Amino acid sequence: MQKLNEFWSNILETLSASMSQVSYDVWIKTLVPLCIVKEKLILITPSLSSQAIINKNYLDEIRTALAKRCRESLCNDDLKDVENFNVTDAEVITEVQKEEYIEKTNAVAAAAVIADKKDDSDAVFMPKYTFDNFVVAESNHLAAMAAQAIAEDPGSTYNPLFIYGGVGLGKTHIMHAIGNYIRAKNPALKIVCVPTEKFTNELIDSIKNSKDTREFREKYRKADILMMDDIQFLSGKAGTQDAVFHTFNDLYQNGKQIIMTSDKPPKEISHLEERLRSRFLSGLIADIKPPDFETRVAILKKKALQEKYNVDPVVINFIAEKIDSNIREMEGLLSRVVFYSNLVGKPANNLTLANEALKDYVDVKKESLTAYDIIDACCNYFNITKSEITGKRKNKEVVEPRQIAIYIITDMLSLPLISIGQLFGGRDHTTVIHARDKIADKIKSDPRTKAKIIDIQTYIAEVKR
Ligand code: ADP
Ligand code: MG
Repeated sequence: MQKLNEFWSNILETLSASMSQVSYDVWIKTLVPLCIVKEKLILITPSLSSQAIINKNYLDEIRTALAKRCRESLCNDDLKDVENFNVTDAEVITEVQKEEYIEKTNAVAAAAVIADKKDDSDAVFMPKYTFDNFVVAESNHLAAMAAQAIAEDPGSTYNPLFIYGGVGLGKTHIMHAIGNYIRAKNPALKIVCVPTEKFTNELIDSIKNSKDTREFREKYRKADILMMDDIQFLSGKAGTQDAVFHTFNDLYQNGKQIIMTSDKPPKEISHLEERLRSRFLSGLIADIKPPDFETRVAILKKKALQEKYNVDPVVINFIAEKIDSNIREMEGLLSRVVFYSNLVGKPANNLTLANEALKDYVDVKKESLTAYDIIDACCNYFNITKSEITGKRKNKEVVEPRQIAIYIITDMLSLPLISIGQLFGGRDHTTVIHARDKIADKIKSDPRTKAKIIDIQTYIAEVKR
């Protein structure tokens, strides 16, 4: 992993020298190397829309940088020691595709497991997620205050800390800020920070490969500070809940700090064992609410300063007005305006430019969106044809895409169920209801399905711009 990261950071250097700063910041810097298979570097990007943009505009540049690096390392003995990779091709896949990719390719699974092991022994925190970069306001002050107290003195103030709030409101940021702070102040403390889904996957892997179970248990029980992100994903997973329960007790009894985040409070996490719920409730529960306008402006200003974006306050206010909940989305709009302003070579200091940059972006204009757009997007995403998705066949490859398409249509459009049925080969409206409810249920229990839908909706938003 170390080598792969080193290798990729070398490629990044070459790329940053050959392209504009904003393209590099927006599209390239967010890529994460997964592994190398057959001389091909597999890179992860967060969403389907960024995958499409990178494939269209930047993949050739990445390939050129790889080829350049490869030529250099053949001629330079020093480089041979650092990286013995012969890589000339690259493929960009999304977070969601990654899991399927790993499942399909055993070789990749092996590489990914090795990579994971390295990372886990030493939690990796996003360097930008610090207390300094976090705007404290009424909407988040309890969580921020508790986080700071814990960072100063883990295990003795608020334990466990349970932070909950909507998507993109700063839960992961706060958790990593605690990690970054403790890491700098007291590097001897062992911090284990894990997304709950990953915890589940590791547990499953360790059970499959029974000699690792002890290793799994020890890794978590040796922690001085355990951070579990997005703990709502424990819902309905009895085996994982059991493992969390025992880990929790062990750590708690030994005075170790536990921090959890979730998109809902403990009482609203369904299918959660009572003994676990009561553990979660036993410490401090801090919620994060959507920020008010002034806070949104302050966050955008901080972000602009941090990224050295040159953006006028009038544009900042404009963006802060457009989005009122998800901060990640709001930051996305800021990057988009800066990206656009660089592209057209005009300063980001007026609303005409901001409007052009964000034209149709914030929300897919419902009136311009049709069921055909959604069907198209699903066909592209799942790589099947329109006649397959609307057809009669009931094989696995087409049933899920069909149900997802139906779900998204019911979610994004207000079409009568009968008309939806007609689009799908004259199906009955009860079939439409069945498909819709099936996916709605699945979203609650299976994060992958949820991620697929977000991916497809982002893609729809992108193509409808
Ligand atoms: P969550 O985990 O709640 O979904 P994140 O922690 O990933 O959200 O935050 C989403 C983005 O918003 C991150 O880039 C984060 O830095 C930023 N953010 C959220 N809240 C704040 C805040 N109060 N100050 C500065 N940045 C924030
Ligand atoms: Mg998060």
